[in-house]
Amino acid sequence: MIITKQKPIEQILKYLEGCKKIFIVGCAQCATVCKTGGEDEVKKMKEILEQHGKEVLGTEVWDPPCHLLEVKRRARDKKDLISKADAILSMSCGDGTYTIFQGTLKKVYPASDTLFLGVVERAGRFSEACSLCGDCTLSLTGSYCPNSLCPKGLQNGPCGGAKDGKCEINPDIDCGWILIYKRLKEIGELDKMKQIQPPKDHSKAVKPKKIVLSNVTKSRI
Ligand code: SF4
Ligand code: SF4
Repeated sequence: MIITKQKPIEQILKYLEGCKKIFIVGCAQCATVCKTGGEDEVKKMKEILEQHGKEVLGTEVWDPPCHLLEVKRRARDKKDLISKADAILSMSCGDGTYTIFQGTLKKVYPASDTLFLGVVERAGRFSEACSLCGDCTLSLTGSYCPNSLCPKGLQNGPCGGAKDGKCEINPDIDCGWILIYKRLKEIGELDKMKQIQPPKDHSKAVKPKKIVLSNVTKSRI
């Protein structure tokens, strides 16, 4: 799940300065779960923008706005309204915002900050799980990610600064490496702690990344 947080309304209004007619697009997937771009949030945003003198030409929640073909299809359906809009306000992650721009070529402004890739622990509670390093080592760490759970991103064991199981950088969180140690012990793989890992291959994280699968037909997109 891509975790987002709504920007302060003052910031959103600042982006929309000079734009009178607005079209709002939400996201039926991650942003709905994060309560940053579902039906309710989009409706509320419409009310707020109207209170601030904007004319909201339309609102839509796309499923999802990060799928270019879906964006183009939905934008075609609403072409009359979108063509009249001075800007689109995107209530989705940065990926959705970019894809809406690509699919409409309109001015698109983000209503949310995109924070991390995380687990939905329960309604309204999210925790970071993966930092998209492109070189997954969870097989060595009992499924706990050292890049995401250790603020220093250490790859070869703890820094030694933990106190009572808590991280020296942030005492509110468990030391990621103590979690890894305990889990490896639990599953009988403690010997993996002794394996020295080479430096992270950051070349796998060079941006922008692109993947083109050769075995996907159009009908399966
Ligand atoms: S090791 Fe890399 S790919 Fe695997 S969970 Fe951590 S950040 Fe994600
Ligand atoms: S205390 Fe643990 S989680 Fe915190 S920086 Fe050191 S090894 Fe990483």
